[in-house]
Amino acid sequence: MNKVHNFSAGPAILPKSAIDASVAALQNFSDMGLSLLEISHRSKQFEAVVAEACQLVKEILNLNDEYEVVFLQGGASLQFDMVPMNFLTPGKTAAYINTGVWASRAVKEAKLFGEVNVLASSEDKNFSYIPKGYAIPEDACYFHCTSNNTIYGTEMFSFPECPVPLVCDMSSDIFSRKIDASKFDLIYAGAQKNMGPAGATLVIIKKSFLEKANAKVPTMLNYKIHIENGSMYNTPGVFAIFVCMHTLRWIKSIGLEAMEVRNKAKADLLYAEIDRNNLFTGTVVPEDRSRMNVNFVLNDKTLEAPFLKLCEERNLSGLKGHRSVGGLRASLYNALEIDSVQVLVETMQYFETANTGNTQNSK
Ligand SMILES: *Cc1c(COP(=O)(O)O)cnc(C)c1O
Repeated sequence: MNKVHNFSAGPAILPKSAIDASVAALQNFSDMGLSLLEISHRSKQFEAVVAEACQLVKEILNLNDEYEVVFLQGGASLQFDMVPMNFLTPGKTAAYINTGVWASRAVKEAKLFGEVNVLASSEDKNFSYIPKGYAIPEDACYFHCTSNNTIYGTEMFSFPECPVPLVCDMSSDIFSRKIDASKFDLIYAGAQKNMGPAGATLVIIKKSFLEKANAKVPTMLNYKIHIENGSMYNTPGVFAIFVCMHTLRWIKSIGLEAMEVRNKAKADLLYAEIDRNNLFTGTVVPEDRSRMNVNFVLNDKTLEAPFLKLCEERNLSGLKGHRSVGGLRASLYNALEIDSVQVLVETMQYFETANTGNTQNSK
């Protein structure tokens, strides 16, 4: 079978080592003579998987013992509720910025639990930039932001000075670049973009923030309960955590510094072609362009279907924009090799020549 270049926004491309380890473990996990799908989550072999996954998260992000790491279920979407349920104190306010569909959903859910102050929004320009220059009120319970706007393709390359606990949805760019994780009080990420398959959600919480959690939270939505029980209050997503652990091993073997160099090279290559090619236009202001999700359009919309057909013929998969936005989106998550981006760029050049006769013209 020819190689398929996977530009899907999520569930997304995974490193081959994680896929290979999963295939083997589905047959015989850890020499137990049983499939990974059949074993007890309380077996010492699986407890070792959870422990290693949590340890790798700490090592990769350089987190000290002030932080707790847990794997939960319910996706990043359940975190939109768990964060305010645990930390939006009655009578107080939580501060949010609205940078896209997922941030809007986080705001919507938080409003179910208390007062929400939306400090800034980029909705006025279809979420094509990251708002800057807002002040975070000192009496907020926490400030919530979304580091990468998966659907519209903007990314926060700096985080505001934050006088209150900093909470971040990093679902689509976690482990893609070096960050100072010690600035954050709570980080969450659904695994299926850059860390594993759907079915596991990573949550990292600073212990000092956890101490401020509300007392009356339903058991399954209570961070303290999940932490006290080592991600095993109830049956965890055994398979998903196993794949995360192997993906984390691969991420650690590269390191975040080198990962960032890789990811920047891929994004630079594609944005340069979008800017050069007469048929295409990027939809995001240059300084906020995401390295993970590259959004662009064909200037002549009638060429979109023929372009996507050509991509399919060349084994380029997952390039159709989100159903709420349209256009094209190329997701360049960690495991995607630059060779795949090169094939996409060559396809864009071929398409330009075929449709205009131009070759390598500058705009
Ligand atoms: C995909 C995504 C979500 C939703 O994740 P689920 O795991 O499907 O709930 C939330 N936030 C961001 C930034 C995402 O990219």
